[in-house]
Amino acid sequence: MTPFAYTKAADAKSAMEAGAAAGTEFIAGGTNVVDLLRLGVARPARLVDLNALPWDKIEKTADGGLRIGALVKNSDLAWYPDVRERYPVLAEALLAGASAQLRNMASVGGNLLQRTRCGYFRDVGVAACNKRAPGSGCAAMDGYVRMHAVLGGSDQCIAAHPSDMCVALVALDAIVHVQGPNGERTVPVGEFHVLPGAHPEVETVLARGELVTGVTIPATALSTRSAYVKARDRASYAFALASAAAALHLEGSVIRDARVALGGVGTKPWRSKEAEQALVGQPAKRDVFEQAAAAALKGAHTRRGNEFKVVLAQRVLVRALERAGGMA
Ligand code: SF4
Repeated sequence: MTPFAYTKAADAKSAMEAGAAAGTEFIAGGTNVVDLLRLGVARPARLVDLNALPWDKIEKTADGGLRIGALVKNSDLAWYPDVRERYPVLAEALLAGASAQLRNMASVGGNLLQRTRCGYFRDVGVAACNKRAPGSGCAAMDGYVRMHAVLGGSDQCIAAHPSDMCVALVALDAIVHVQGPNGERTVPVGEFHVLPGAHPEVETVLARGELVTGVTIPATALSTRSAYVKARDRASYAFALASAAAALHLEGSVIRDARVALGGVGTKPWRSKEAEQALVGQPAKRDVFEQAAAAALKGAHTRRGNEFKVVLAQRVLVRALERAGGMA
């Protein structure tokens, strides 16, 4: 591990000032950052601890939604009564992630910012990784891609986004709150992560010195009928091969509105407007769900070793839609 300076931020202003300097990284729960420090992937000059900042609360918003602080622990959010009752897709996604011990440490802000599990990225003995070393190439292109993305990749990077929570937040139209040297701003979660394109090292719209302070999930007619389904190699403590978040607003058996997002198959938490369009106005039944799932994966680009993800993601999505629709 490379030596670094460690400080605790007393307030947001000092944290942002520290973050404006090159070589600064932040730590909250540490479940991802400490991993990357040990592996030698992260080599900050300074590590700024955010845990003293007042962003550890869950509060109701004026319009009935929830404002969730960036330092709220994943387990606290998953078991929060309002989340379990009104946003089941979020509770299920959180409880599908990592292990109980990790969920007790991991923060909401850290989950939004967690790095890919691409094995080549995490192995500093592999020279070719555009995300870790821009311009060095991509070892995955001709490598082992079982866990890699089939949606949103570029010729520079095909690493899958690892978060479960973010997939649920996309299906809930969540808003990310950001604070930086130029003030506060909000970003729809679907626009928070960026595609790798020519610069896989850029993963979000955050500018240097900006911090995630929290997330708002609105009160909508969709959120109660929602579900998260995840397929993985082990029943626990494994990242998604494919996952799906589905939220439906039904009038009788007719789908009036829908949100669909996929995990494990995209280079970012993947909202499928194609699937949503295939659902709205249709009866909630299996063949409609299958058509929507086919639409969601229509643009998939597979490589030798991850072709199975297309069918797997479709089946996972159909199951999530059936659960959201009360049919499974
Ligand atoms: Fe690096 Fe992305 Fe290629 Fe993985 S897929 S080796 S993260 S550039």
